[in-house]
Amino acid sequence: MSETNPPPQHANHIASQESLRRSALTSEFKRSLRNQTWTFIRNVAAAPRRGHWILGGSVVLLTVLVGVIMPTFASATRSDSAGTALTTMQLPLPPLPASASADAAIASLAADGSNEPDWKIAVVKAGQSLSDIFREQGLGPGDLQRAVDAQADATALRRIRPGDEFAFDIDASGSLRALRFDRSDAARVTLNFATGTVTESVQDRALERRVEVAHGVINSSLFDAGDQAGMSDLMTLRLANAFGYDIDFAQDLRQGDSFSVIYDQVYRDGERLHGGDIIAATFTNQGKRYTAIRFTNAKGETLYYTEDGRPLRKAFLRTPVEFTRISSRFSAGRMHPVLGKMRAHRGVDYAAPSGTPIRAAGAGKIIYRGKQGGYGNVVILQHQGKFTTLYGHMSRFAAGKVGQHVSQGQVIGYVGMTGLATGPHLHYEFRLAGKHRDPLTVTLPKEEPLPASELARFNKGSGVLLARLKMVDAVHLARRD
Ligand SMILES: [Zn+2]
Repeated sequence: MSETNPPPQHANHIASQESLRRSALTSEFKRSLRNQTWTFIRNVAAAPRRGHWILGGSVVLLTVLVGVIMPTFASATRSDSAGTALTTMQLPLPPLPASASADAAIASLAADGSNEPDWKIAVVKAGQSLSDIFREQGLGPGDLQRAVDAQADATALRRIRPGDEFAFDIDASGSLRALRFDRSDAARVTLNFATGTVTESVQDRALERRVEVAHGVINSSLFDAGDQAGMSDLMTLRLANAFGYDIDFAQDLRQGDSFSVIYDQVYRDGERLHGGDIIAATFTNQGKRYTAIRFTNAKGETLYYTEDGRPLRKAFLRTPVEFTRISSRFSAGRMHPVLGKMRAHRGVDYAAPSGTPIRAAGAGKIIYRGKQGGYGNVVILQHQGKFTTLYGHMSRFAAGKVGQHVSQGQVIGYVGMTGLATGPHLHYEFRLAGKHRDPLTVTLPKEEPLPASELARFNKGSGVLLARLKMVDAVHLARRD
């Protein structure tokens, strides 16, 4: 608990921990989505302390978050601002592979055109189930069951969302002839009930990715700068996410910082469907220039890399929980709050409300999951052979079994006070080759750069992108002078 005379270097760790606070980002982010009022980094120069930790160092968690929110978010994003024309320009770039060929889609449309059924379209309203919609069409649960049974993967029918469309072809006697719906952005399914057995046909709908370029300068906030550059808020979040391991967007951002981005948008039938990905970007923060290039490595992982082919991602998160304060530090001897005896404290205690998600600090394997004396409910992960991390006092575990693999940032349990604890907190330990290290100060291992065998392919793609980014920077620099 309270420490007497912390060694001088602790002051730095406290400061760096401030910057790593993972705070209430999740709820704050969801709230700001609802209200459309962006509170992060609203005011770079004069933001009060509290405002600062709203974004915290949590951008690394955004990947998870964006994945969860994406479907509703797509419709919540603001339409392109009027300033787009000024700040966005089309540059000739190599075409990106579309997920389906346009020719095939046109051919299938032409084939279908002649005997197109008379579709009645039903749009899913909030709170409606698919059986409600079937009932509205005068159809019974038997019809719905046949539709579900007819498909190997009926997820599209089980998880419907407001706005989804279902088209019904019903004959004069009121029986279902055909049902049409979208399984994904690119696949439209038609189930034919006319014959005894249900037949399924899938139409690939050509998706097109259009590449855009944007440049922004920070005046008041990252989101304002993104907005002025014609980027959606989601794309701005993705930009922050790409650089989140190197730049603390809550505390490090300064007026005059700038970014250049190449990203894409997904179009279908000439209409913008949703934002795509950041393909490459540079971010200049306090005079230091960072580069991120999206690349799919030989293992099939798509990551962001530096110009020389090193992943921006780090092997470990410094802090595995959104905590409110550090309640106890790593030390050789401290008075144990429950036992009342001097004991070494071989980890860090992060105070956080009961139920706060605890995340795997790095990708690894669960090697222990259960009760262990004073630790209460504990999970131990093994990473890259010689590292282990331990998470104690959990109120409950997330899904997972011993031997199972977890990815970095994956929720493995929830903060509690099982075992010997005076309040809800996470007890976190970091061990290197079995030896305890201070999680706040240990030098975290770097991710390996791309091997030489992959570097040639990487350089070929990145060269073009870097040249474009340099051009964007130059154009805007000239404009500012
Ligand atoms: Zn502890």
